[in-house]
Amino acid sequence: MKDKIFRIAIDGPSGAGKSTIAKAVAKKLNIDYIDTGAMYRAIGYKMSVCGVYPEDLEAVNTVLAVTDIDFTDGCIYLDGRDVSDHIRTPEMSMMASICSTLPAVRKKLVEIQRAMAERKSVIMDGRDIGTNVLTDAEVKIYLTASDEERAQRRFLELRDPQTYEEVLEDIRQRDRNDMTRKLNPLCRAEDAVELDTTGMSIDQVVERVLEIAAHKTA
Ligand code: C5P
Repeated sequence: MKDKIFRIAIDGPSGAGKSTIAKAVAKKLNIDYIDTGAMYRAIGYKMSVCGVYPEDLEAVNTVLAVTDIDFTDGCIYLDGRDVSDHIRTPEMSMMASICSTLPAVRKKLVEIQRAMAERKSVIMDGRDIGTNVLTDAEVKIYLTASDEERAQRRFLELRDPQTYEEVLEDIRQRDRNDMTRKLNPLCRAEDAVELDTTGMSIDQVVERVLEIAAHKTA
């Protein structure tokens, strides 16, 4: 596994632990971690700062044409500025989910994501990595957990907490949006290993992902 280039694709619904696990696995394997959800959030953030409604496709295209997105060293850069501290709010979660249904947004971000995974080993997480962005990834994992456990995890990590019930409702709403949208909906790639993390600790999940990756890249 050491000298080979390989890509690990992690998909799954909100709160399944994708970014926590992907970050830890990236560190263990000394490869880059790319958080594609942060990119959709950054676009959502830009649209709200610019006062653009996602229904106004002309305005969306105008803004996209002058938008630069990068994800480096765990930080999301929007037009050269680190906006990591602005994108983890319930409003930006919903804005990201809405913007992610727009073909122009997906086209732009998927191109950037594919370029980032060229010629180097990466672990990339999102909703359509195994099914669309990196269909030839050596390792594909579909991470999931019960709605209640995912809501509980999100509830504990939110800086400006909603109630648990609100978080649960948001998660279910986003699952519905992500799984039923026309373009690249969230679903398990046929060749992905499904991992239900309900009741598992972070260390246990990381261990399991490393085992799967070692097996698939042997
Ligand atoms: O993963 P995270 O919760 O940060 O993603 C925010 C939103 O971005 C998701 O709810 C989803 O709508 C969208 N997304 C997507 N495709 C990806 C990653 C995220 O549509 N690859």
